[in-house]
Amino acid sequence: MRALVLKEYGRLAVEEVARPRLQPEEVLVRVRACGICGSDVHGMDGSTGRRIPPLIMGHEGAGEIAEVGSAVTGWSPGDRVTFDSTVFCGKCWHCLRGEVNLCEERRVLGVACAEFRRDGAFAEFVAVPARVLYRLPDGLSFDKAAMVEAVSVAVHAVRRTPLESGATVAVVGAGMIGLLVIQVLRTAGCDRIIAIDLDGGRLKRALSLGATSALQAGSGGLAAEVRGLSKGRGADAAFEVVGIAPTVKTAIDCVRKGGSVTLIGNAEKSVELPLQAVVTRQITLIGTCASAGEYPDCLELIASGRVNVTEMISATPPLE
Ligand SMILES: [Zn+2]
Ligand SMILES: [Zn+2]
Repeated sequence: MRALVLKEYGRLAVEEVARPRLQPEEVLVRVRACGICGSDVHGMDGSTGRRIPPLIMGHEGAGEIAEVGSAVTGWSPGDRVTFDSTVFCGKCWHCLRGEVNLCEERRVLGVACAEFRRDGAFAEFVAVPARVLYRLPDGLSFDKAAMVEAVSVAVHAVRRTPLESGATVAVVGAGMIGLLVIQVLRTAGCDRIIAIDLDGGRLKRALSLGATSALQAGSGGLAAEVRGLSKGRGADAAFEVVGIAPTVKTAIDCVRKGGSVTLIGNAEKSVELPLQAVVTRQITLIGTCASAGEYPDCLELIASGRVNVTEMISATPPLE
């Protein structure tokens, strides 16, 4: 099969490689679309150490089943599917609690690090365990379906966050995940969604996708502006979708006393925390990682158009 192989940091090549050999519980998926994740970009240049060449990257895929392993039931060749980028074991303490994103044996497709490697979906075919498969709703295109992983990150983050109806929420960072969080918040019934970003173009998109206000970062005074939009109190919740010190601080500064900050971005390994503000204002900090069973709901959100992913597909190039 043809595959896009990361040969060394900074160099990709389309090559003929052996098809993955199926384990009994796996299926072979003919890849029809695969998203390019920010982590692939930063993995490709070696900056994160999460991709060790040679490797086939790509974990946001959709396609058709080409072959099923001997122990697989309920799936047939031709089925249109997508798959969880997190390959969980299904047996550990966390998996049995439904927290598959916290699985002790967690492997991510298309990732190679010191502990493991697993080839991904920048290829004609990819092998995945049947337990991570999800059926595509009729009429949902492969391109849109390949966006489900990103949508699931947003949906999981919103579900982790205590939100009353009519809440005021700030979203710090209006990149792809931030824009999806905004859309999911809209479907969750939030009254006021305040997008915050440095980039005016992103803020414009945020407004077109459901943010009710857009604030340009960088000039200071953001917290006061947010208070001005929330009866003087501050936002009930904030989502941090960047992961560097200034934006974490902004998110904490923007919420009211007793509010919560949900941390999605993790560009930096560690950041300075305004500890006294968190403690004395009794702010809840919530970490959120990937998703745990939200795929079917996310596929429905995409198929129904309640979450618009078309806006987020900037190009559809071939493997080459
Ligand atoms: Zn990703
Ligand atoms: Zn597990």
